[in-house]
Amino acid sequence: MKDTLVFDVRNIKNEDFNEYGVQIQPSLLDLEFDDVNFYTVICGKVQLLRHGEDNIYVKAEVSTDIELQCGKCLDTYKEDLEARFEVQFTPSTNTEDIESGSVDDEERFYDGETFNISEDARQALVLQLPGWPLCSQLCEGLCSGCGINLNEEDCTCPETEAAQTDTPDRHSPFADLKQLLDTGKIETENKPKNRKEITLKNGTSKT
Ligand SMILES: [Zn+2]
Ligand SMILES: [Zn+2]
Repeated sequence: MKDTLVFDVRNIKNEDFNEYGVQIQPSLLDLEFDDVNFYTVICGKVQLLRHGEDNIYVKAEVSTDIELQCGKCLDTYKEDLEARFEVQFTPSTNTEDIESGSVDDEERFYDGETFNISEDARQALVLQLPGWPLCSQLCEGLCSGCGINLNEEDCTCPETEAAQTDTPDRHSPFADLKQLLDTGKIETENKPKNRKEITLKNGTSKT
């Protein structure tokens, strides 16, 4: 079991296929964030194939558990995180190539002896992080009235928040439009942008 993502390829023969189990500390991959806690070891499997002109084809999968804060109820919860990636390295004696090679490049270089896929693993894991973390699809969130966690208990606030946020104060523009229509001051043909609203309003007001 390896504890880094730096690989020495000198003992991999051509057309030889090697598989490594890895267990990496999150700090080694610089996985430290305010809103996501990588609190445990990252496990993975890395497959290496040496082929052609000492090219190294890398296929890897890594997984771990993370602790997140729910965007609705603000509770912390745990989630599995899994990522896969593939990358190919080509030997180069040009140190500039090796040092400037970023993870986004299609062509990556190594010095013929070792290469490092820590940054690849880091980016693959970060890409899998949920953009809007939810402890559950059914999370009820917090009451906007009293702040109570509605997953845990009910509160006695009147259920008016939803109605209020769904219908912000748009009473007046519609009333104005209707009045203008009634008095014939708007020609609907010349106001395509407003036509939908007007016909809607017109239709509902007639029935
Ligand atoms: Zn939640
Ligand atoms: Zn409440």
